[in-house]
Amino acid sequence: MTLPPNVHDAEPIPAAAREAIDALMQSGDLFRYTAPQDAPVALLEAEFAELLGSKYALAVSSCSAALFLSLKALDLPRDARVLIPGFTFAAVPSSVVHAGCIPVLCEVGENYRIDLADFEGKLGNVQAVIISHMRGHTSDMDAIMELCDAHGIPVIEDAAHSLGTTWHGGNIGTIGKVGCFSFQSYKMINAGEGGILITDDADLVARAVIMSGAYEHNWKKHKGPHGDNSPELEEAFARWQNKLPLYNLRLSNLSAAVIRPQIPELARRVRDGLANHDYVAERLNSSTYINVPDPLAPEKRAPDSIQFNLVGMHEDDIRAFAAASEARGVKVQVFGLSEDNARAFWNWQFMPEKFELPQTRAMLMKACDVRLPVRLTREELDVIADILLASVGEVTGPVPVYGT
Ligand SMILES: *Cc1c(COP(=O)(O)O)cnc(C)c1O
Repeated sequence: MTLPPNVHDAEPIPAAAREAIDALMQSGDLFRYTAPQDAPVALLEAEFAELLGSKYALAVSSCSAALFLSLKALDLPRDARVLIPGFTFAAVPSSVVHAGCIPVLCEVGENYRIDLADFEGKLGNVQAVIISHMRGHTSDMDAIMELCDAHGIPVIEDAAHSLGTTWHGGNIGTIGKVGCFSFQSYKMINAGEGGILITDDADLVARAVIMSGAYEHNWKKHKGPHGDNSPELEEAFARWQNKLPLYNLRLSNLSAAVIRPQIPELARRVRDGLANHDYVAERLNSSTYINVPDPLAPEKRAPDSIQFNLVGMHEDDIRAFAAASEARGVKVQVFGLSEDNARAFWNWQFMPEKFELPQTRAMLMKACDVRLPVRLTREELDVIADILLASVGEVTGPVPVYGT
């Protein structure tokens, strides 16, 4: 029998990273602004902007830092209200609080996506929106952009977990005014830590670049598309020179050297991740007690984990299911049941205002999360699916057989 796979180990970093890291160890040139040009961080920014099809990219220390800088770059007034989904990672409301703003939570549906009626109802009273594509589930960006454009409200996409996801064939992260991505180890590209923001707005990126720690004239090392000088960008930098605080959220050249050789691996990871996910989803959906929500029609996903709802099971059964799976070697996180879960909104006790979201809460109490790293083989996926199905069977009893 194949043992349950280790779902926490990442893929090895491509060997090409070693050469770049050796060169950096030799030169000691780890700070992005030491070299006059072509520092690994600057090359990463150019490559990432080109990959996603945006004009500008700014690499920083985390996606949380990218979200924080995006909010600061929007120049919102103190205590501005920022609408975010009630199902996201604690880092998202944290970045809003850190930026001196107030998070406003909106309801999320059973399919993990923003509830548009609640979203629309709360939009009149906010100054910005962060769409967190939680676990890579894309909310209806057509409807969201139409509503936000009509209200003149800027949209930040938290695409931390959506690198490689497309919407009508375009890249997630390029739909709103700014898109933020993560290079933390559990995301599609793994540098341990790191993040990047992309935008087509020269003024916004200029502000973010300076606040990220481009002191004095270091902004001159930031270029426009294809590494060209961009007059628009230079004018924006000149406008903001000395006018903004520095938060020093820069990325190190070492991290960029780990990230860059993974970019050519992305297409394969996305393809394998989706195939793995859809294979396990189909197997799990064979149980009447499990529902893996469908993607929205314009969405092509890039998953490295699977989420599913338990159907018609009480809380005790759900706890027993998670325990049975774990005993067999597959860790299931039920977002609303595991203690102090950072994705359960009631645990965000740092929120300046409290929100009650009955629909989101009900979803979190039965929504399960299982990691599915893209490197898993079919055999390993079958072991995971077998264990999950057997654990459901253990809790719910034998599946009724109809007829004779
Ligand atoms: C991982 C994640 C973040 C935080 O990213 P960091 O790089 O660790 O700051 C934010 N939002 C979502 C949806 C994430 O999955």
